[in-house]
Amino acid sequence: MKKRKSKVMPNNVLGYNRTSTSYRGKIHDIHLRLRRPGTHELIDYESIAATMCHELAHCVRGPHDAHFYKVNTLFSCNLAKHSYHNLMLQSFIQINTQGHGRDRGTVCCILGKRSSCR
Ligand SMILES: [Zn+2]
Repeated sequence: MKKRKSKVMPNNVLGYNRTSTSYRGKIHDIHLRLRRPGTHELIDYESIAATMCHELAHCVRGPHDAHFYKVNTLFSCNLAKHSYHNLMLQSFIQINTQGHGRDRGTVCCILGKRSSCR
């Protein structure tokens, strides 16, 4: 397998989307920075997730135009919705599993969000 050259990201860039074409169509490689250059400090989840939404939007629309920002907003809203849901679910699990012996399956059934619930 031929090794592809990686792109050097400027220090203020958190990610990029590299688009190439193959016989199967367009291929998008998304590269995300997880640590700050120099300090190697981990970048916060929210920044990485926002960058991922931005780069995913580039899979739909290349230029930074109105269509791109509409798609980016849609992805960001979906991320926020799922993050909120996960946060509420974790809080619910913590509250309802302290001393009551409930497991995740029970909590999921109460919320009705998992098809694998018994
Ligand atoms: Zn961009």
